[in-house]
Amino acid sequence: MSRGARRLQRRIGFAAPVDNTVVFYTGANYTGTAIPASQGDSVNTLLPQGQNDTIRSIKVLAPSKVYTYSDVDYSGSIFFTTHSIPNLSTFYDNGSSFSAATSSYRVESAAYAAPTAAIAPITLNDATTVVAWPGSGRFGDCVINQVNTDIQDQAVYDDFTAIMPAYLFQPALQQMARNVCSIIYDNPDSIPRSYPTMTLHFMPADGIAASAGGHVWLYKQAPLYPIASFMSHEICHNYQCSKDYGTSPYATGVIEGVADYVLVIMGYHTVRPSGGGTNWYDGYDTSAFFFDYIENHAAVPSPGFVKRLVRTMDGRDPLVSNFAWAPSIIQTINAQGKTVDQLWADYKAWVAAGN
Ligand SMILES: [Zn+2]
Repeated sequence: MSRGARRLQRRIGFAAPVDNTVVFYTGANYTGTAIPASQGDSVNTLLPQGQNDTIRSIKVLAPSKVYTYSDVDYSGSIFFTTHSIPNLSTFYDNGSSFSAATSSYRVESAAYAAPTAAIAPITLNDATTVVAWPGSGRFGDCVINQVNTDIQDQAVYDDFTAIMPAYLFQPALQQMARNVCSIIYDNPDSIPRSYPTMTLHFMPADGIAASAGGHVWLYKQAPLYPIASFMSHEICHNYQCSKDYGTSPYATGVIEGVADYVLVIMGYHTVRPSGGGTNWYDGYDTSAFFFDYIENHAAVPSPGFVKRLVRTMDGRDPLVSNFAWAPSIIQTINAQGKTVDQLWADYKAWVAAGN
């Protein structure tokens, strides 16, 4: 314990001889049971202590980086802070408050930076490649330690593994995760969710793929599509906030568009929909190429537009503050201050002009 920390501890009256730089409390406004933690502490589950889903406020007593997770083993929604939080109920992700929702946590020093990972492209048996996107090595915290398989259709599994052998599941999915995070987030501390364990379900039904919180479902037609490409889309979903997905066609279009935008940036998607597409919020390649236009090709480009757009899907973002995501948000975050409909009209004209 540093002298400063000891003085600080005495001043606030802690009796416990613990080098605590962070104290979690079961009540709001630093009340209830105190759960002290030190820099370097990692608690992968609060269940045995009977403290699961009890933390409601966080006091940061010395400069630190605090990461709490909604699930055990550092998975689920991440709440990141460097300062005291008197009431976690004011912070939302996907409509759920972070109050009484912590199952694991870790505390790092203020100087902590995510480890840099060694990255390398991984070539699959169809000669396509999981790229090692420049800058993805900075996301060394973004780990997929384990990939489980749930084989409900052996033929789907066999066809899939003929292209991506099972021994590549973990390194390939982890590289995909680092790729997409490096494209849609500024830094590792911006990642709003984490799934160190991923489960691949091989399903006996028609379709391609779907994903949610640490799971990817692969259907009969999946092996017919470029795995490095569509799996990167699915892995991207595991690191996106998905507020209003399925309820708002606009939010749904943005989320699906962003998951294809990473494919445009990495070069997996090269062909724009004819004429640019029908509606800006149709998602997938339609929205992806439109977002690429706003960020990179408009008369006045909007550098960082997609990263900013991604943050607005997080209920903690000041632009949404857990209120419904609305297309008007796009007007406030593009360099020209144009409405999304104006931008779409500009884009359609730009495409029609042969760009
Ligand atoms: Zn999708």
